[in-house]
Amino acid sequence: MPPRQTSPRAAARKSATARKAPAKAPAHRKAAAPERLPPAVVEEMFRRFHARDPEPRGELEHVDPYTLLVAVVLSAQATDVGVNKATRRLYAEAATPEAMVALGEERVREHIRTIGLYRAKAKNVIALSERLIAEHGGAVPPSRAALELLPGVGRKTANVVLNVAFGEPTIAVDTHLFRVGNRTRLAPGRTPLEVELGLEAVVPDAYRRHAHHWLILHGRYVCKARKPDCPSCLIADLCPFEPKTTASPVA
Ligand code: SF4
Repeated sequence: MPPRQTSPRAAARKSATARKAPAKAPAHRKAAAPERLPPAVVEEMFRRFHARDPEPRGELEHVDPYTLLVAVVLSAQATDVGVNKATRRLYAEAATPEAMVALGEERVREHIRTIGLYRAKAKNVIALSERLIAEHGGAVPPSRAALELLPGVGRKTANVVLNVAFGEPTIAVDTHLFRVGNRTRLAPGRTPLEVELGLEAVVPDAYRRHAHHWLILHGRYVCKARKPDCPSCLIADLCPFEPKTTASPVA
């Protein structure tokens, strides 16, 4: 007889049960590594995200890699809605590196003064535009190493640009993704990099391209920081997060 296969839901239940009764480790022993979800559960989570929204999109308005890059740089500690308001004004006057440099730091500052850290961000937008002109012919380079050398661009920003503008299956971990990765146990980690690498290791290839957007939108609108909306969560029956706000799984 062929071996019986464990359904994703049963695997999640088994996983949660195992977590409820951990073997008591002696006090001096180091804590065990955080438990991860069984592959069948991970697959089922992404199958559902895909079925509901096959082509998820980010919410930062842009028309090309440059306007995307600037929008992402501006989005640190700011909402996408706030950034979009600012970039609509800014891009009406300057939507290329050359036009941005011609506009100048002071005018950029005026356009973006409604968002956090606007002084430093205006400085970075001008500096990165100058660098793009001087070193990349005014184009955004499709390379992580080159992107991370630009002023104001870190790993997360580079990952967003590589994913959205160049179609690479990168996963940018922001505050939402960090929370969802840990709560769902998809990729538990203490730092964004740990969560990013954890997700890269577990997300099935077929779902890698859009994993970033599914998880960020899930964290922003459903698995919210203060009160996750578990009753309307698509993956509630698969998620092992203990203080769920519902007891009834989603069918
Ligand atoms: S069940 Fe609740 S905690 Fe788990 S992913 Fe859904 S919203 Fe987040």
